[in-house]
Amino acid sequence: MAASTSSTSDPSSPQRFAGRVALITGVSDRGIGGAIAERLASEGAQVSLTGLDEPKKLLKGLEANGDRFLWNSADLSDPEVPQQLVMATADKFGQLDILVNNAGIETMEPLTSMTDSQWDEIVGVNLTAVMRMSRAALSQFADRAAAIINIASVLGIAGSPAMTAYSATKAGVIGMTRSLALELAPQGIRVNAIAPAMVKTPMIMRYANTITDAQWRQIQAAHPLGIGAPSDVAAAVAFLASREAKWITGATLPLGWTQSYSPAFEELSGE
Ligand code: NAD
Repeated sequence: MAASTSSTSDPSSPQRFAGRVALITGVSDRGIGGAIAERLASEGAQVSLTGLDEPKKLLKGLEANGDRFLWNSADLSDPEVPQQLVMATADKFGQLDILVNNAGIETMEPLTSMTDSQWDEIVGVNLTAVMRMSRAALSQFADRAAAIINIASVLGIAGSPAMTAYSATKAGVIGMTRSLALELAPQGIRVNAIAPAMVKTPMIMRYANTITDAQWRQIQAAHPLGIGAPSDVAAAVAFLASREAKWITGATLPLGWTQSYSPAFEELSGE
């Protein structure tokens, strides 16, 4: 685990999360985690950020704004890392109030060609690490009306060919959210999930060139409000992390999609 820190603060920023400390996984320059970090920091949170690669642009921006942050490069498939990240956060800020389990990977692989190691890798990062991060965070959450927000996916509820492993992990995250919400409610800890549809990030843009016109029409039909931006997810995280959501737990908030009937699907499937 490699760390870098900043210790200045910006008293003129909006203060919904003033005095609160948020630990966010899967933070990158152009992904959802980076937008969550910017949003919570802009509202006064002190942020502990982690991901595989240092998001240089984001950290520079936080530094320029005078935001208080901690960065740790770390691999969440290492079972020791969640505890180390939580302890590093507590050492730096003295507390932890908000955990955002955002790190995730996907693999597009039909079941016939999927290897056990592909399955284990995606389960390790998308599901097991979420459990380990949540368990590690509990030691710092005591009596703090804390919140856990898990980034699931529309594919944890709906399905898609060749996305079996990804869907299974995200459905697992939604199930974990429901049970953990009940387990932790007596301590005042809220646990919610967000299930975004397609968001324009490096994860998705990798496939942009391989998508056919017919597939794009189908994707657009499934997104009545268009493809999302990382900031759309960050706004939902900020709401669920805030005291305005103090009566919400165990929920999975769909973003950018709806289960309503769409005639475009019939047209495309030839029915
Ligand atoms: P991204 O690829 O830009 O970001 C993923 C992040 O996870 C990166 O910061 C990466 O460093 C981190 N990560 C990956 N493997 C890791 C590991 N072993 N250890 C530690 N960190 C690791 O993707 P994104 O689109 O920003 O996705 C963020 C989250 O949102 C993911 O959980 C993803 O499943 C979910 N999501 C994305 C979309 C979408 O359309 N982009 C839709 C629904 C849900």
